[in-house]
Amino acid sequence: LTLAYDPARRLARMQVGMERALVNARMIYELLDLQPQQGDTSGAAEARITTGEVRFNNVSFGYVPETPVLQELSFVAQAGKMTAIVGASGAGKSTLVALLQRFYDVGQGSITIDGQDISKVTKKSLRGSIAYVSQAPYLFEGTIRDNIRYGRLSATDAEIEQAAKQAAADEFIRQQPEGYDTPVGENGVTLSGGQRQRVSIARAIVRNAPILLLDEATSALDNEAEARVQEALTHVMEGRTTIVIAHRLSTVVNADHIIVLEEGRLVEEGSHAALMADPHSVYARFHRVQGKKGLGLVDDAKPIQTP
Ligand code: ADP
Ligand code: MG
Repeated sequence: LTLAYDPARRLARMQVGMERALVNARMIYELLDLQPQQGDTSGAAEARITTGEVRFNNVSFGYVPETPVLQELSFVAQAGKMTAIVGASGAGKSTLVALLQRFYDVGQGSITIDGQDISKVTKKSLRGSIAYVSQAPYLFEGTIRDNIRYGRLSATDAEIEQAAKQAAADEFIRQQPEGYDTPVGENGVTLSGGQRQRVSIARAIVRNAPILLLDEATSALDNEAEARVQEALTHVMEGRTTIVIAHRLSTVVNADHIIVLEEGRLVEEGSHAALMADPHSVYARFHRVQGKKGLGLVDDAKPIQTP
């Protein structure tokens, strides 16, 4: 994977969609720990994860100084629990997840994991404690086995197959011409969206990290694929601090805690029941709109107008 970031990024700025794709590629690249020390502060320590509690403390951030994207954002993602982030497209959900992995540094405020400021720990140890499943999972040139192993390069074949089973991927992988050794990518077989997601979930399972960041897919999977992906996700979330950018009502309803973002600000938080108790809440309103569409996609919703 070789990418000349700077010229490529300059070019890509002309096209937002393309830039997003590049940012995604960069996230994957850095997740593979290929440039681990870049950007560490001198004397950075190893992150010591005990329970995996994540805190945003008054975080503000903008990609360019004049345009704030997150504003004075504070919340706690409790250890071992599922926190769902909801909000219209452009509210800052993906940015929040990028900051937690230090693809960018916060402008103001801090992010801590178990009380440690993430800007003071090595990126390698920070990212080693995080598994990230993106909205549009990326498969590398290589075999399916390699693609799962990217989660943790030391994973054994047995661990890879165990993870694939938990991710409801083992069965379709075995049906490929060369099973786990089937090449994917440009010169290999093409997997469906749901299959790619399950490979990516298996990758997150072998990573065995205490913190899981999940950007739910917005693409419509067929019902069976959807059910299998959900099944895979319940396995990977067990016992981990999960922050999910939620696009499905079923996920939001089941979350332990819900954060509602509007234009980079936290406007409401609480459990589904607590947020629904106020019929005038942004969340309740959002549910009324989304509810009519069944399991509608949050990102497709128009920005919610407050009265
Ligand atoms: P969400 O995930 O909620 O849709 P994002 O975090 O992707 O929102 O985006 C929040 C805002 O930041 C949007 O206005 C978006 O255009 C902008 N943005 C996102 N990524 C970048 C980037 N790499 N460079 C500049 N602006 C960006
Ligand atoms: Mg997003």
